[in-house]
Amino acid sequence: MRKPIIAGNWKMHKTVAEGVAFINAVKNEIVGTDVEALVCAPFTLLPSLVEAAKGTGVKIGAQNMHFEDKGAFTGEVSADMLLDIGVTHVIIGHSERRQYFAETDETVNKKVIKALAKGLVPILCCGETLEQREAGETKALCKVQIEKAFEGISAEDATKVVVAYEPIWAIGTGKTASSQDANDVISYIREVLEGIYSDEVSEEVRIQYGGSVKPSNVEEIMNESDIDGALVGGASLEPTDFVKLVNF
Ligand code: PGA
Repeated sequence: MRKPIIAGNWKMHKTVAEGVAFINAVKNEIVGTDVEALVCAPFTLLPSLVEAAKGTGVKIGAQNMHFEDKGAFTGEVSADMLLDIGVTHVIIGHSERRQYFAETDETVNKKVIKALAKGLVPILCCGETLEQREAGETKALCKVQIEKAFEGISAEDATKVVVAYEPIWAIGTGKTASSQDANDVISYIREVLEGIYSDEVSEEVRIQYGGSVKPSNVEEIMNESDIDGALVGGASLEPTDFVKLVNF
């Protein structure tokens, strides 16, 4: 059985005080659930959030990391630095990083490899633009992104990766892919993983949907057979919404 994982992606939002207040507001509402609950926050908040979330059902993740261990990489943060402060997960290859910060399939692959080698859980993002969807290229694009991201990764390590399928046209737009459409692409991603590895691996990897998920549509999305969770931007910023998402 794949454990559902609901992850908030705060992007560039919240001060330390706001983040800690959020954790304090949700921590008693996220108990006794079989759902893995995760908040991915900006670097400046991470140590305080890890502290605030200790002993609660909320885990803390980063939104990016560098693939090198150390060196002259101004502005970057390494996997060891994240582990040093108790972070457990890291989003890799979010479409905003691919679009605005020159992330490529190659750097995404290097980051996934490094995160796994260090023991961080990578949340690996893939997904198509509106033009690509309209041109019927969604599956071919996801296949390339997945195959490149998993290059050089063993079957055992592959099962530790969380994939997030996020159609770019659905991010922050209020437009969601229909739950059937999302499930269709996600089951195709499982086929791609089966092609690279095996049926067992493809059945074990957790795959989230992301793109305008909110309390009102999370249940329908989570009811789909191949969707194991959600990566949520806008609707993860309010404690009451986040609690509803996790307790879908
Ligand atoms: P959204 O963002 O929920 O605001 O659409 C999702 C994401 O970018 O991960």
